[in-house]
Amino acid sequence: MPAQVIAPRIRGFICLNAHPVGCAANVREQVDLMSRGAPGQGIKDALVIGSSTGYGLSSLLCTVFRYGARAVGVCLERPPNGDKPASAGWYNLAEAHRLARAAGRSITTVNGDAYTDEIRQRTVKLLKDSGAKLDTIVYSLASPKRVDPRTGTTYASVLKPLGATYRSKSISLGSDQIVEVEIAPATDADVEATRKVMGGEDWELWLAALLEAGVVGPGCRTVAYSYIGPELTYPIYRSGTIGKAKEHLEQTAIALDRTLREAVGGAAYISVNKALVTQASSAIPVVPLYISILYKLMKAKGTHEGTAAQIRRLYETHLGPGRTPALDAAGRIRIDDWEMDSDVQREV
Ligand code: NAD
Repeated sequence: MPAQVIAPRIRGFICLNAHPVGCAANVREQVDLMSRGAPGQGIKDALVIGSSTGYGLSSLLCTVFRYGARAVGVCLERPPNGDKPASAGWYNLAEAHRLARAAGRSITTVNGDAYTDEIRQRTVKLLKDSGAKLDTIVYSLASPKRVDPRTGTTYASVLKPLGATYRSKSISLGSDQIVEVEIAPATDADVEATRKVMGGEDWELWLAALLEAGVVGPGCRTVAYSYIGPELTYPIYRSGTIGKAKEHLEQTAIALDRTLREAVGGAAYISVNKALVTQASSAIPVVPLYISILYKLMKAKGTHEGTAAQIRRLYETHLGPGRTPALDAAGRIRIDDWEMDSDVQREV
């Protein structure tokens, strides 16, 4: 293949192509952060669902390079095709696999639609065949759509307010301009569709399949990621369609916690994470402008973290081997504490 120059192709909020060298550099930086002062042990078998970008990628790298886990990741990424580069997650995992091999660690990736029974069963078989007894299960999917495997119905998640039209400012990532946005309220069908995609239903299906197959080890902990954010973004986030889905995810954690406690003496957690730039968060109106201001302030204060630093702190203080998670009044881990710091929020 002759060398080619890859220039960014941006449509709306999303960059359609990726540069393998940049993706690899990002992964190496994360692995460096995870490896510094690492115990190198403590997690035996990890499964990360949504392992190729954002919080899931950092979770995969944390379990493998910080705690020595043998890890399986599930993701949906596009390989290169002719002169078309692969998706960013594909290149991220290519580097993660390379670094794992070089360090004598093990990452196995299942690339396919995690919402299907086929990919779930393929993953379960792989875990069973390798004799895995999972002690860590991270659920970090973010997707615009999901086909319900029981009914075949396709649901598309939407980012809309509830009740009234919402007007605010946002940043246009295509033109770098501050723009006014107006978003019409969601219908009941929108709320339900977003719950079907981003709520806890699929997390529950995964846990049921894994428990049934006997690949969940004693004391296994599972975690899914949520977001709350400031009142400023409530209409579009926490009080909007996605917030309703997150409420469902958080309710699911309570049910799964009971199931895991009874089955293997394990536990299920929600970690409320910081707002960070990922493919998923860039799609939300208003949030990119909030993030731009937030980053500037947190960097000035020295409290800014990327996904890797957030996940490393999550494991060091709450979820890592031997740690007991500290929970808020609603039973959630709050690793968004530095974002929600009252000084930071007042300035934003
Ligand atoms: P992301 O877009 O970076 O990652 C999503 C992952 O899901 C990728 O690995 C992708 O391959 C995978 N995926 C998507 N659809 C799939 C499918 N059908 N089958 C298999 N894999 C699929 O997203 P993110 O921002 O890291 O979000 C992960 C979780 O963290 C979400 O629950 C999100 O709400 C939550 N969260 C994000 C933020 C933020 O600011 N980014 C803050 C708090 C919580």
